Amino acid sequence: MTSFAELAGQWRPVRDKVEGFIEERVYPLEAELDDIDNDRYFALMRPLMAEAKAHGIWALGHPREIGGQGLPFAAYVLINEVIGRSEHAIVALGTHTLQDALMLHRFAGAAWKERYLRRLVDGDFFPSVSMTEPAVASSDPTQLQTTAVLEGDEWRISGRKWFTTWANRAAFSTVFARTEPDDVPAHRAFSMIVVPTDARGYRIVREVPVLGMRGCHCEVALEDVRVPAANLVGGRGEGFTIAQKRLGPGRIYHCMRWLGQAQRAFDLMCRRANERVAFGSPLASKQLVQKMVFDSAAEIQACRLLTLDAARKLDAGEDARTEIAVIKVVGAQMVHNVVDRAIQVHGALGVTIDTPLERMYRHARFARIYDGPDEVHVESVAKRILRSFARGDGWDFAERDSVGSSPPRAAA
Ligand SMILES: Cc1cc2nc3c(=O)[nH]c(=O)nc-3n(C[C@H](O)[C@H](O)[C@H](O)COP(=O)(O)OP(=O)(O)OC[C@H]3O[C@@H](n4cnc5c(N)ncnc54)[C@H](O)[C@@H]3O)c2cc1C
Repeated sequence: MTSFAELAGQWRPVRDKVEGFIEERVYPLEAELDDIDNDRYFALMRPLMAEAKAHGIWALGHPREIGGQGLPFAAYVLINEVIGRSEHAIVALGTHTLQDALMLHRFAGAAWKERYLRRLVDGDFFPSVSMTEPAVASSDPTQLQTTAVLEGDEWRISGRKWFTTWANRAAFSTVFARTEPDDVPAHRAFSMIVVPTDARGYRIVREVPVLGMRGCHCEVALEDVRVPAANLVGGRGEGFTIAQKRLGPGRIYHCMRWLGQAQRAFDLMCRRANERVAFGSPLASKQLVQKMVFDSAAEIQACRLLTLDAARKLDAGEDARTEIAVIKVVGAQMVHNVVDRAIQVHGALGVTIDTPLERMYRHARFARIYDGPDEVHVESVAKRILRSFARGDGWDFAERDSVGSSPPRAAA
């Protein structure tokens, strides 16, 4: 694989173009785009999407055969870091559909793809995923209670979901439901089924407000919803296997976006520290503020290298499960800490809507919960390492390093 340094040079013009577009066109509209109803949201967002298309920076990471620009995974990882600086840029540049589009391109039925896939990539509507349920701890999805029963050539689906992000803007939800009998092991008992949001019995109960923000995280009732049998994604019982395939690259994209957020918060913090004067000197001269700059720089840099390492391993087809679980936790905590410090350096201004920090902070808090709460990843990594020790294999970091600094093994 080409190194990230080479890729960064090669794709610099695209990165710069994306950065310029976000700074000039998206940042000025961010405050207006927050917390508004769908009509006003799309009235502002549609022209931005059209501009991104005209500039050739729409859907950069989607494969060409489904209407994207087909950037290689590793190159897109680097561009995604810039796109992630603004949650609205993610939509304005068509990145918000990437994970679902890739999954459905690979696993959905032909009729469904014919009808929806191009339009999804074109940004005609949002996707949504319905896994989490209010009644059970959904960090353990083997407990999900939603069921889908095959009756003739239709699935009949019943259950209640929540935190189905964007259900209120989506044309469909990919719903996790138990399709197999009780005697089938849980990890092979659940399937994914695409449900149009206008299907009879699909009802948005409420848009759940979160940390004071208007909800796009919806509670959804599925009341004997009937969809064609062909809406099954992949095979019966393959829900969790497919979800894992979706989540691997997805977590790398998340982490790069968190790094983009952290960079933006870091820039704001350092500028403010140099400008603001207290007790006769700039904040930048205070050691406690310098410590915040130091800690943030160290955490961002460490997280960035960990994330690129995980991306390289994934791209090379190596087993990157441990590295991806590690960056999910390190990344979520890193962005949370950096935004928190940037707010502190801004004082009261930091918690107002006059800077983007207030909103970034709320999103950073979510990051420690979605895509599996941090604790679940901590446990899985620790268990894997401890099992390796129990087998007598230990856990040699030098052997796992991907920058090529491992010493060659001595001949036996
Ligand atoms: C902003 C946001 C967007 C989301 N979007 C979606 C979406 O689009 N679709 C969707 O289906 N879901 C979505 N979710 C839901 C998210 O995936 C779940 O919240 C998450 O899986 C945790 O499930 P839970 O909330 O039921 O928490 P629970 O499973 O009840 O867990 C509660 C807490 O218990 C602790 N815990 C759990 N397991 C362990 C363990 N093994 N060891 C130690 N502690 C543990 C953790 O601290 C955890 O936070 C979203 C959530 C948020 C906050």
